[in-house]
Amino acid sequence: MIELVKDKQKSNCHDCGVNPEEKHIEGCDVERCTICKGQSLSCDCDSPRETWTGIAYEKELLYCEENNLWVKWNDGWVRCSKDDDGATHDLNAAVKIIMSHE
Ligand SMILES: [Zn+2]
Ligand SMILES: [Zn+2]
Repeated sequence: MIELVKDKQKSNCHDCGVNPEEKHIEGCDVERCTICKGQSLSCDCDSPRETWTGIAYEKELLYCEENNLWVKWNDGWVRCSKDDDGATHDLNAAVKIIMSHE
């Protein structure tokens, strides 16, 4: 069974340790830039700190769930349906689509 976002346990940021709904602390390598969407550590934008949602890739996971983007391992990742054995969120596809829309 796939673990959907609503079933996921929220946890503190695994790098800087802030609680869900708090902003990351300077130097956190999980934080993403709110302007260019890149890793905050490695960009030069003067962006406001990103708020940690409690779930890594929450936005991308939700996108997969809303748009039925699922993959499973079969000598490589292949698209599949949500009910297939071993199906999981197709994060790569979601990231690509989200990046191309923003
Ligand atoms: Zn953090
Ligand atoms: Zn940036």
